[in-house]
Amino acid sequence: MRVLVLGAGVVGTAAAYFLNEAGHEVTVVERQPGAGLETSFANGGIVSAYAARPWAHPEVPRMLVKWFGREDAPYLFRLRPDLAQWRWAVQFLRQCTTARFERAQQVSLRLSTYSYDCFRALREKEGIDYDGRAEGVLHLYRDARSLDAAYAYETRMADQRFHPERLDRDAMLETEPALQQTADQFAGALYFPQDESGDAHKFTAGLAAAAATRGVTFRYGETVTRLSGDRRGVTGAETDKGAIEADAVVMSLGSYSPRFLRRLGVRVPIYPLKGYSVTIPTTGYNGAPTRAVHDGHRRIVMSRLGDRLRCAGTAELDGHNATIRADRANATLDAAMAVFPSGGDRGKAERWIGFRPMTPDCLPVIGRTSVPGLYMDTGHGSTGWTYASGSGRIIADIVSGRDPGIDMAGLTPDRF
Ligand SMILES: Cc1cc2nc3c(=O)[nH]c(=O)nc-3n(C[C@H](O)[C@H](O)[C@H](O)COP(=O)(O)OP(=O)(O)OC[C@H]3O[C@@H](n4cnc5c(N)ncnc54)[C@H](O)[C@@H]3O)c2cc1C
Repeated sequence: MRVLVLGAGVVGTAAAYFLNEAGHEVTVVERQPGAGLETSFANGGIVSAYAARPWAHPEVPRMLVKWFGREDAPYLFRLRPDLAQWRWAVQFLRQCTTARFERAQQVSLRLSTYSYDCFRALREKEGIDYDGRAEGVLHLYRDARSLDAAYAYETRMADQRFHPERLDRDAMLETEPALQQTADQFAGALYFPQDESGDAHKFTAGLAAAAATRGVTFRYGETVTRLSGDRRGVTGAETDKGAIEADAVVMSLGSYSPRFLRRLGVRVPIYPLKGYSVTIPTTGYNGAPTRAVHDGHRRIVMSRLGDRLRCAGTAELDGHNATIRADRANATLDAAMAVFPSGGDRGKAERWIGFRPMTPDCLPVIGRTSVPGLYMDTGHGSTGWTYASGSGRIIADIVSGRDPGIDMAGLTPDRF
């Protein structure tokens, strides 16, 4: 089958790889000059096998009220005259109940563990160099009560694989000595030994190169303008360079996906949730962590990528406003330096923003749409690198008419 994948972020690239492996003739259209240059470029760097959690959490509404009007708020809703944004915000807030969060968490874990196996197999098969570290992720807690509560919550799950290790302060320091300077801020940590980290852009570029070697055609520097066909069936796509015919089209345009689907009557509530990262060179500094670290209080993640420290966080609902605001980028930088004061050269920090393609339930949309020939593999939100290998494999199975071998409840387009 001729399959057209729209978008070469980490999600579209993984889909293209597995579609090729399934024996299809695959073409990828990407407006950038290479793969992984938009949201997949400088993310937090975590591949979370067992600690992926939906962001629509019961605590979020309280946090929004607490931080209301503050520019350094970790979650900032800049409401604008945009019906899609308001509708998304209402749907997201409705998702913030304990029951809905826990249901979404089960789906997330189902996908992240499946994806983790696909990711590891892919990594081993292709030998991609992406500054990867399979050394686990530490989640820091400020006081014993919140550490105990988090541990009790995490170990409620029947499946022992999901249980983290509870580390008191000494054990935390033994696991990550770079926390020495600021250890007194923390009571301890939960340690998820299977979680990993690395550079998502390097991974995506490496995977695209591997896919190209295996026969996938990447049409870089080409912008999709519309899908061809109508509600009775999709026949390809039109781009600024002409029409491309295909038997199947996989939508992986991240946060830009909904605008192309609307004309064919397919509605999916994906909204851009802007996030910031800063990347600090570590050469000459001896205080950078080797393991990835999540500071839930400051709402940031920090990953060591070779001789760089990547720090990412914050969520801003402001459409596709790509402005890099100094105050918000600096809040992320300050938060990282408060944990690792000699972790790197803050004067040389590189600031970046990306648009997480977020659904209200914080789960991706994978599968067949109501339009024959049109498939979706998009909406991966805050966890796109984690889910990408699994969702790529799933969509390849679905396009090929095969059972993906994973329960798809909670992931398909028809849930909206
Ligand atoms: C600050 C931040 C931190 C994050 N941290 C993590 C993390 O630690 N772990 C994790 O798993 N996830 C993380 N994420 C989420 C993850 O980065 C995303 O979910 C993922 O990158 C989404 O990939 P994608 O391929 O769907 O989107 P994208 O990477 O945005 O890919 C979509 C592609 O479509 C292309 N495109 C768009 N429109 C057109 C058009 N008209 N024509 C042609 N091409 C087009 C774009 O150029 C782009 O390359 C983070 C995100 C952010 C913002």
